[in-house]
Amino acid sequence: MLANYLKKWGLGIAALALGAVAVVLCLVSFNNKIENVGREELITRVEEVRDNAAYTLENELSHVVQMVVNEARVLDMMGDATDEEIISELHEFVGVGRAVRATILRFDGTTCSSDGEVGKYDKELYSDAIHTTKSYISAPRFSEDNENVAIDVFMPMYSTGKRTGVLVTSYDISLFEQIFIKKIITGESAICITTADGDLIFRTGTVEAPDGFDKNVFDFYVRDDVEFLHGSPESLRADMLAGRASSLSYENGGMVRFVSYASAGDWYVASVTTDRSLTIREAHILSSALDFAMQVVVAVLIITGCILVSGIKEQRRHVKELSDMAYVDSLTGLANKKKFKITALELLKKKPGAYALILLDINEFKVLNDTLGYECGDRVLRMIADVISESLGAGEAFGRGDADEYYLLVKYQSDSLVRERIIEGIDQINERFRATVNDAYTIVLCAGVYVVRNTDTDINVMLDMAKHAQQLIKGITRSTVAFYSEDIRRNILNQKLVENEMHNALQNGDFITYLQPKYRLSDEKICGAEALVRWDIGNSQIRYPDQFINVFERNGFITRLDMYMLDKSCEIISGWLRDGITPVPISVNFSRMHLANENFVDDIARVVESYNVPPKYIEIELTEGTMLGNEEVLIAFLSRLHERGFALSMDDFGSGYSSLGLLRDLPVDIIKLDKTFFAEYDDFKRAKTVISSIISMARELGICTVAEGVETVENIILLRELGCDIVQGYYYAKPMEATKLSQFMAENGAENDG
Ligand code: C2E
Ligand code: CA
Ligand code: CA
Repeated sequence: MLANYLKKWGLGIAALALGAVAVVLCLVSFNNKIENVGREELITRVEEVRDNAAYTLENELSHVVQMVVNEARVLDMMGDATDEEIISELHEFVGVGRAVRATILRFDGTTCSSDGEVGKYDKELYSDAIHTTKSYISAPRFSEDNENVAIDVFMPMYSTGKRTGVLVTSYDISLFEQIFIKKIITGESAICITTADGDLIFRTGTVEAPDGFDKNVFDFYVRDDVEFLHGSPESLRADMLAGRASSLSYENGGMVRFVSYASAGDWYVASVTTDRSLTIREAHILSSALDFAMQVVVAVLIITGCILVSGIKEQRRHVKELSDMAYVDSLTGLANKKKFKITALELLKKKPGAYALILLDINEFKVLNDTLGYECGDRVLRMIADVISESLGAGEAFGRGDADEYYLLVKYQSDSLVRERIIEGIDQINERFRATVNDAYTIVLCAGVYVVRNTDTDINVMLDMAKHAQQLIKGITRSTVAFYSEDIRRNILNQKLVENEMHNALQNGDFITYLQPKYRLSDEKICGAEALVRWDIGNSQIRYPDQFINVFERNGFITRLDMYMLDKSCEIISGWLRDGITPVPISVNFSRMHLANENFVDDIARVVESYNVPPKYIEIELTEGTMLGNEEVLIAFLSRLHERGFALSMDDFGSGYSSLGLLRDLPVDIIKLDKTFFAEYDDFKRAKTVISSIISMARELGICTVAEGVETVENIILLRELGCDIVQGYYYAKPMEATKLSQFMAENGAENDG
């Protein structure tokens, strides 16, 4: 009986013990699995952050160098400027570029700097630097307490082909720290930037710094209380010497840290994270699993384990999806711009000097989208991406940028071969387009090409140069290829000069309001004027709008200039009123950029009211291009303008894709026929039917017509015949200063009809 009893229970106990062992084994292996998966994930993450940071750092540094290079060119062009002029230029450059100080060291031993110092410098101290023939970044300079770190960027300066000295620009490292904090999402990692000797330049992030880590990392790694689990200081040094990435993990103060280094120029970027997050997660999973094991059978536990492991797999898949998202263009499934840059950089590093960088863009893609529909637009974008990627050879790269921009890096033999290849590609795109989408339409593509001559140039700068080339041909109505050239470089330099001077010019009143009178055809009396800006650059020299308006459009300064011109126009009208002269309305040009400003109309009204000028004396000119695709915003804008008593004039009508239908939808008050209609008499005759229908349509809708750029009596006769109301052009008068216009008005017996 007892024996039976024991037999029965003994079996039970044995089964129970076996079960317990199984539970423990399962838990241990489960724990290991989680630990391994977690650790792997952690290391991948650290490496991702590291690469991202290295890439950002290199970009930022080369951006800074590029700014210094540009500034040196500007200074080179200033030739025999006085020290005072140079100091003010340096001062402005330092302000814009967020540098600490910029100094010129000349071969003759003289120096002058952004903070106004002039004099001699210690030639011996700078004996190496001053003879540099290339731009370079100095080793970091550490302050005694290691609190502040600075770097200097050196750039040789030239005058008529001869080296004259060097421009030294100093930056506080905290500038890069701020940029880093903004640009890099570190999660639970910290980022350290060190010299190749391991001196810490700066660090960001949330992981607490181990003792000593904030001076030199090697000093720290060789300490007794640092125990390496993976890698060693020696392996790190060897990797750094060879320019390889390197990863370590070590224990210190009861905490395990994972570190991964990669080079970024002369410096090293390290991403650091601790196992703390890992331990907390593990402990949590383990204890809940134990609770669970008490109550349910091993099988359930295993199933749970499987589910958990598959959850982790799911999470890893998610991480992969996220990283795919960062590099894959969701529309085409091919590389995006980010990925393109990375691949291009890799290729350029491997094989310098034999590549061309191409930026391809569809002309008026918006119009294509509007006429064929968005779904079709997407198809076209995908089709183009396919054709391009199929046409690439080995060692070439491609990616799609924003909307209709495509980037390519192709092998380069000669300009003409690259051009041929691009045109062939465009033909192929159109062939496929006609076969699959629409056979009544041609896609116009324009390509800007930058031939890579120096692989050290920042890829963003290269892309900019391709873009500069491309912008020159934007708007041409057939597919065209443009190469970045010396002319374009000069253009950019001009832009830089204009940008350097514009703020001072506005403050000093160097922008002058010229007025070009408008004549009523019926009685040839002056009935209005257009305000056109001129830039007085001293020595009785004038800069014309074509040299700066588009620069201001790009950098946004145009909105300030336009409001300034409005202000000056009001001042002129209030002067006329004060002097007993009957004013004529002045039309002021406004860039399309203002439409983004909700308070645009209020801003205009405020200026006009401040001069006590009745609104009927101010007309707002917007170019026709502004109107397309913006109808809703414009209708609202127009009705607010009308409420306030202002008139709107549609400038350059007929220059773009204008349709007469637009006039019906938009209650504009005036249209200005584009001056290209009147550029040549022969063309004008041909354009006659178009003009005639515009004028009669305008008349039907009660819209006033102004013909612009009219130079010949033949044009005047025809315009009169067609019933045009007003003419503005050299035939009658060129733009002139306000005082001169007052005289003209007095002589002409001007009267306004407003
Ligand atoms: P726009 O508004 O079409 O101005 C008319 C341009 O045609 C003026 O050039 C004027 O001098 C020129 N013009 C007038 N009559 C004739 C003619 O008979 N023959 C020829 N060949 N040209 C004639 P300007 O003053 O050089 O201005 C060029 C453009 O710069 C303007 O074109 C306008 O788009 C822009 N602009 C000028 N001032 C401002 C401004 O204050 N704000 C803005 N946003 N743009 C401005
Ligand atoms: Ca105008
Ligand atoms: Ca115009």
